Amino acid sequence: MRPTRNCPWNKCAFCSLYKGEKFQIRKVEEIKGDIDAVKRIEELIKEGSDEVNKVPRRCLTMVFAWVRSGKRTVFLQDSNTPIMRTSQLVEVIEYLRETFPAIERVTSYARSKTIARKSLEDLSELKEAGLGRLHLGLESGDDDILKMVNKGVTAEEHIEAGQKALEAGFELSEYVMPDLGGRELFEEHALNTANVLNKINPDYIRMRPLSVRKGTKLYEKWEKKDFQLSSPHERLREIKIMIKNLEVSAKLCFDHRLNGWRDKSGNRLFKVDYEGYELPEEKDLLLSLVEEGLRVDESHHLDVRKLKTPSL
Ligand code: SF4
Repeated sequence: MRPTRNCPWNKCAFCSLYKGEKFQIRKVEEIKGDIDAVKRIEELIKEGSDEVNKVPRRCLTMVFAWVRSGKRTVFLQDSNTPIMRTSQLVEVIEYLRETFPAIERVTSYARSKTIARKSLEDLSELKEAGLGRLHLGLESGDDDILKMVNKGVTAEEHIEAGQKALEAGFELSEYVMPDLGGRELFEEHALNTANVLNKINPDYIRMRPLSVRKGTKLYEKWEKKDFQLSSPHERLREIKIMIKNLEVSAKLCFDHRLNGWRDKSGNRLFKVDYEGYELPEEKDLLLSLVEEGLRVDESHHLDVRKLKTPSL
């Protein structure tokens, strides 16, 4: 569902996802109209009605897949839907849950800045209405790096947002971007990110290694050689520092293709799994995997510096 469209910030130096697109908060009635439309399509499918042929193919495929999967989860798009007025978002979520009582989980991406600015009461209201999981783009816990990439948020605000989200009862994923400090700031990036994560203690830490996309400010810097991407082994060394310094009870996940390191047999070094590795229990296992990756020749690992069409 898209209660909002695009990104209200749209200035991160590494991101091209919504470049040139205007941010919009949609009207509650319009969003409810989307929910009603999904319900109607579901009914047409169940009735085997010919009317279903009038539904645009893309909508039909999406609704069909969602219904067939049990209608259990919903993701609120785009990048920062919690920026909506709380009362309006509560109305949307309640309507969604009334219309589809089988829904078990509603998730949203959000900016730490927005969550830090919301009151605990507002966040608790959203939780109560049925928003259960938040994905926050931490990227880094280092203030110099956050400033360099124009993230528009400080380490302290990341901590405030994360802690508040957990206090309101959300299940929390923090997205970390290995190599965001490049060769120059890898150590600060690793140490300060671990430090921020330790203070938040989220449920999930999800690794999204940096790739520089054409059209972004970071790409320009990289082309001018003002920013240096790390090699696959250097990235692993950075991750090793972060893992060593993590003191969290969380799951660390490498659930993205850019985590493209290989083990000695040529398989993925880290499992690509939404549940990842348990910390602290599997910390030693993770560190031994990093060591294994460091013993594998660099040419076998994914090197984003060589990607022709780097993607997020
Ligand atoms: S990374 Fe997220 S907050 Fe930053 S511009 Fe992209 S979508 Fe917006």
